Amino acid sequence: MPVFNGESPKEECGVLGIFAPKEDVSRLAYFGLSALQHRGQEAAGLAVSDGHQLRLHKDIGLVSQVFDPQTLSTIKGDFAIGHTRYSTTGSSSARNAQPFLIDTRYGPIALAHNGNLVNAAELRQKLLEQGVGLSSTSDTEVMTMMLACSNGDTWFERLKDAIQHWVGAFSLVILTRDQVFAVRDPWGFHPLNVGMLPGGGHVAASEIGALRTLGCEAYREVFPGEIIALSNTALTAFQALPVAEPTGYCTFEDIYFSRPDNIFDGRNVHTIRRRLGENLAKECPVDADVVIPVPDSSIPAAIGYAAKSGIPYNDGFIKNRYIGRTFIEPNDSLRKLGIALKYNVILENIVGKRVVMVDDSIVRGNTTGPLVQLLRSAGVKEVHLRITCPPIKHPCFMGVDMGTYDELIAHRYSVDEICRYVDGDSLAYLSMEGMMDAIGRKNGYCNACFTGKYPVPLAVGMTKTGFEDSIG
Ligand code: SF4
Repeated sequence: MPVFNGESPKEECGVLGIFAPKEDVSRLAYFGLSALQHRGQEAAGLAVSDGHQLRLHKDIGLVSQVFDPQTLSTIKGDFAIGHTRYSTTGSSSARNAQPFLIDTRYGPIALAHNGNLVNAAELRQKLLEQGVGLSSTSDTEVMTMMLACSNGDTWFERLKDAIQHWVGAFSLVILTRDQVFAVRDPWGFHPLNVGMLPGGGHVAASEIGALRTLGCEAYREVFPGEIIALSNTALTAFQALPVAEPTGYCTFEDIYFSRPDNIFDGRNVHTIRRRLGENLAKECPVDADVVIPVPDSSIPAAIGYAAKSGIPYNDGFIKNRYIGRTFIEPNDSLRKLGIALKYNVILENIVGKRVVMVDDSIVRGNTTGPLVQLLRSAGVKEVHLRITCPPIKHPCFMGVDMGTYDELIAHRYSVDEICRYVDGDSLAYLSMEGMMDAIGRKNGYCNACFTGKYPVPLAVGMTKTGFEDSIG
């Protein structure tokens, strides 16, 4: 049986920024980061400023493992930025946990980043040639150092200067002694939003869910290419770079990453996922007795598939959400047990039935097979796999860990071969047209992991090696 080492594309990162002088900012940030936990479970961090000094706490683990009330009481202030991390570039060590905090000739600055610069290797080389020391393999450190070396009288001006050189995905929050900035790349790859706190002050967060958790009453997306300075009473917004034409909103935010309550490019993610399921039922019908989701991200799509097909929806799997990856992965025998540790079947809902199993994606092919095995061992009659996007054939270089070409099962095998590999009775993927119809836009989205057409120019050889290899 294939081993479990992560099937869905890995979550990217969650970022959060707060300026709220009347509030317990570090505690607010803790709750905001907890609402972004799904975007990264590997490390978490907070940098807080009291107007004079920046204090940082970050470590490997979930938000609730990294912070406790005692730790939060040591990082008090009015300004904060935070991060939940899943490694994209940079190895998965504490050294690469964010925010990055450095002292500069202009004072301290901290930065937290969701995304990936495709020209980071080139920028890194330039910094090294200027004699700038770098301590990690992360492109976020490259951005932080570039800010420290940029021209301008204020941080706002230095920021405007530095982002002209950045190519790729960056949804950023930046903390100085007395300011918090939110910045989004001109393609708008990954989400970033700002909201107003009821008692005064503002919050920036990857997803609307974090803003709602903190009680924000009004919010909007940070526009592609925009820099926003958070303040107590009003936001200062500046279009620092023209919006890319076309934009490159990440389709996978809608399919998998974002929580269903998020709004991305003006559209609610749950509604889109439900429509993905409806279109899948129209395009790929099958005679069956029950539609089950692979929890959690496929639940709305399975509801949509069931509604459109007339086949009843039911829960087939229970996912244990409390087993951290950290406990499974270091040990080989536990890793092999991964799926069984994480999922149980609800026998009563599936025994003797022909099952449609709806999932958001098949990336490496390591989880689908074990899930099918779980269903078969439980006594299911047939397993028909329905996937809410086209086959993933190309890696992502904009901040999502899809693996390399060699690791992507759809790059190596046909749909029929994948079906045999995962032991399904049938396998069908939603078409590109069906997916974009569900999203509600024809253009302006990145579909590179399906098509290989990247919205940004990649460095020579990058499609083969990726950022980390290219910097050795
Ligand atoms: S390549 Fe895929 S995962 Fe990466 S940004 Fe584009 S749509 Fe998103």
